[in-house]
Amino acid sequence: MSAESRAAELRRTLEQASHDYYVLDRPTLSDREYDTLFRELQAVERDDPALRTPDSPTLRVGAEPASNFKKHTHLIPMISLDNAFSDDEVAAWDERAARMVGEAVHTCGYSAELKIDGAAVSLTYANGVLVTGATRGNGTVGEDVTVNLRTIREIPLRLRGTGHPARIEIRGEVYFPFDAFERLNDERAKAGEPVFANPRNSAAGSLRQLDSSVTAARPLRFFGYAYAIPGVEQMPFATQSELLKTLASWGIPVAPHRRWCQTLAEVYEHAHAIETRLRAELNFGIDGMVVKVDSLAVQAELGIVGGRVPRWATARKFAPDIAETKLLAIEVNVGRTGKINPYAVLEPVEVGGTTVRYATLHNFDLILQKDLRVGDVVLLKRAGEVIPQIIGPVPEKRDPKHPLQLPKTPDVCPSCGRPVRVEEKDVFCENDRCPGRRLEAIVHFASRLAMDINGLSTARIEQLVQEGLVHDVADLYSLKATDIAALERFAEKSSQALVDAIAASKAQPLSKLLFGMGIRHVGEEAARMLARRFLNMRDLAAATLEEIEAVHGIGPTIAASVRDYFDDAATAELLDRLEKAGLQFEEPQTVEVSSAFRGLTVVITGTLPTLSRPDAKARIQAAGGKVTDSVSKATNVLVCGADAGSKLEKAKTLGTEIIDEAELLRRLAR
Ligand code: NAD
Repeated sequence: MSAESRAAELRRTLEQASHDYYVLDRPTLSDREYDTLFRELQAVERDDPALRTPDSPTLRVGAEPASNFKKHTHLIPMISLDNAFSDDEVAAWDERAARMVGEAVHTCGYSAELKIDGAAVSLTYANGVLVTGATRGNGTVGEDVTVNLRTIREIPLRLRGTGHPARIEIRGEVYFPFDAFERLNDERAKAGEPVFANPRNSAAGSLRQLDSSVTAARPLRFFGYAYAIPGVEQMPFATQSELLKTLASWGIPVAPHRRWCQTLAEVYEHAHAIETRLRAELNFGIDGMVVKVDSLAVQAELGIVGGRVPRWATARKFAPDIAETKLLAIEVNVGRTGKINPYAVLEPVEVGGTTVRYATLHNFDLILQKDLRVGDVVLLKRAGEVIPQIIGPVPEKRDPKHPLQLPKTPDVCPSCGRPVRVEEKDVFCENDRCPGRRLEAIVHFASRLAMDINGLSTARIEQLVQEGLVHDVADLYSLKATDIAALERFAEKSSQALVDAIAASKAQPLSKLLFGMGIRHVGEEAARMLARRFLNMRDLAAATLEEIEAVHGIGPTIAASVRDYFDDAATAELLDRLEKAGLQFEEPQTVEVSSAFRGLTVVITGTLPTLSRPDAKARIQAAGGKVTDSVSKATNVLVCGADAGSKLEKAKTLGTEIIDEAELLRRLAR
């Protein structure tokens, strides 16, 4: 194929993909596929600039605004960002910038921010009042979605604080939180509507509703990160980092984990921390980290390239946390409670930086609701939690030549082969002697949050059960090192270490033991509450249903399940054996101390309404805080009472968190 026809083909494909993505909010290519084709087109055009036609996607931002909305012309175009897929590409971007403006790039440092995977919008404030909100559209003209943006509660209708210019466009990203995204997609699947491919598309789709009550019903959120003003008004900030602080002081939500970095090494380190650690804790999607030259003056000097991307910023992209793959099979396993869990066997795929082969499917009802069929191309998400989940099928990618298999609810247990019982959405194996259930019960008992038996892995438990050395959890305590050493893959030393670890677990308190026993519905928290109330296993076992239900935080379902468990003759026998083995049946009584201020430096100023200064200081220290006399950059919190003076002023300029006595007491009580 000639370069010319390849360029034409790439333009067509990218154009169609952009339309599906931006206008229909239903992408037909993955972002990676799109980015690869986009880069190929850029390379073809670089080799032969004559092939760069005026309609090339490499020269454009977004897509044309839809005709159903009034149009809004942005004060200054809203541009896109260039991508860097490795640290080396960030370094290359930095070198290009330094070639243009010299060392200035390095002296001012960089602002490193989360790259929010949402829909870009611009909010126009006139004298501090929100007058217009628009989508990015094609960068120059967007769609006027003011009524819809007004439904997002955290977007201030009036800016707080002072120093706002007469007219300013605040730019940022509207996003859809993960938990709400899952709920929305579950509802859409139930209603037979197509699911959204990712939170970004659902944010963009929700924002571009003609009926604003639909938008209002969706919990959209917003983060600001940029601004535009007409003319050259003097602004109260000179750097991107200061801009973010100012936006926050005006009441605009600003994304967490932003960091000013002096060097590129710090930039890489922060990107690594976000990708490998911080990202998993976020309740919203990010697809990278944006690195910006911090000085706004240096930014202005660097300018933009080809009307599309700035020279002063680049997006360090991360591995996608949503991916497409093929559903190869639906298999089942049995859990310790007897619940039979379906799970998906997938064609291995990279998501969120790891290779995923399996995903949980929760229950059979959900499989039907999502209309998942074996052979489907599915969307997979791995974010916020460790276990990957299937969002839904991609029906357009169903191959009509290969009929898909409808999943079947099993009628026998996959482990013991006995018939199962169906209860609402779930399927249960009721055989107490089922080997699969027994194995899972021991795995749970030994797990970190329960008896925390070091070295007792699932594989080892499997071996001990198969060899007939262990039938239930009490058997663990009569294991001898010599019995274990005779097994394959066990050395004498590791056998003794395992026996020692099992013996050490006898000292675990009642709360851990209760959780480890795997009573249906009794999670870690419920076990702790029961242990704290009854303090002793025998007292709990003898408690009436009413007494158990009266425990704060324990509802009727948990109480009934606990009572049933202790009424069972098998439990009575197990308790006797565990007690004889020397397990701790008591919960030590502890005095709860708040750690609300652990690691924080606190300053107290002014007169507090009820607490004396030494009293407040002692309480903060007891909760792990350090109390100092003067406000500095190192101060995390200022506790402020009446008639505060210069400390309060200083804290305000530094952007330090300021709380009153009521909030202090609330935190201490937490
Ligand atoms: P982009 O998403 O790669 O990055 C630019 C955008 O990032 C900005 O416009 C802004 O909205 C956003 N952003 C988020 N946080 C930011 C921050 N802290 N500071 C500054 N900006 C921030 O670019 P784009 O132009 O929106 O879209 C292009 C990308 O979209 C492609 O790289 C591709 O991944 C995807 N895309 C995919 C398809 C598809 O078919 N799957 C089609 C078109 C585009």
